[in-house]
Amino acid sequence: MGCGHYTNDGYREDIEVENLREWYSTWSKKIRPRELCILGGEPLLHKSIVDIIYMTKTMWDIQDDQEFEVVSNGLLFDRVPDIAKALIDNNCVLTITKHSDDDNYVRLFDKSIDSIKKSGVSYRIHDSVGNWLQTYHGYGCSIEPMYSDDYNLSWDNCPTGQENFQLLDNMIYKCAPLAYLPLQKRKYGDKLSTLWNPYLNYIPLTSGASDFDVLEFFTRGAESVCSMCPKYKKYITKESPLHSPKYYERSRSSM
Ligand code: SF4
Repeated sequence: MGCGHYTNDGYREDIEVENLREWYSTWSKKIRPRELCILGGEPLLHKSIVDIIYMTKTMWDIQDDQEFEVVSNGLLFDRVPDIAKALIDNNCVLTITKHSDDDNYVRLFDKSIDSIKKSGVSYRIHDSVGNWLQTYHGYGCSIEPMYSDDYNLSWDNCPTGQENFQLLDNMIYKCAPLAYLPLQKRKYGDKLSTLWNPYLNYIPLTSGASDFDVLEFFTRGAESVCSMCPKYKKYITKESPLHSPKYYERSRSSM
């Protein structure tokens, strides 16, 4: 399963800690998630990830009946000072996604797992090799939605697992593909297919939402925007995650 953040496109923007604090302040008064995940891109790339872990635990007042996790590829674990202490102090599970069977990648992955084991953090490995789900056609500016003719079926086979709500810019989106689609529009402008327009018009849950709005949003289930995703699960295998976005640009342009 993939989370659909358009990471092929190499976005590098970090969320500012103070912005995140403001968003947490708004939403922690309105909702109490069963599970709270910090994910990226790659969260261990964020220079303030340790502070973010402590702040998340405190501001959401996460209790033992809730799950708190950081989802990472694990490769930078040894390079982030105090990450193990932050995870242990905050009862935060490190979920490590294994992306590929590529030999060079697996060598680095196994080395990271050794370090993580020795650190004493609570971790789990999510083996995604051969288990990635396609959410759109194409690459870069030529991407197109799947354009399913049955959005109920697309929802039943939701590639992000139906519970992938995203907090971004103090609003909550149904899933990552909808939350980050505007990034694609900003990057590619008029080159992006107009087939995306209905999905770019998606309205997320805003900070002024009433209790009724919040309940309606989280229980809505299938909606027409789900037609951007395939009707049936489409499994794909990734190339080595060690390749840079430029590698994919080059390989697509020579096809
Ligand atoms: S648009 Fe609907 S089906 Fe597609 S990822 Fe989002 S919630 Fe799932």
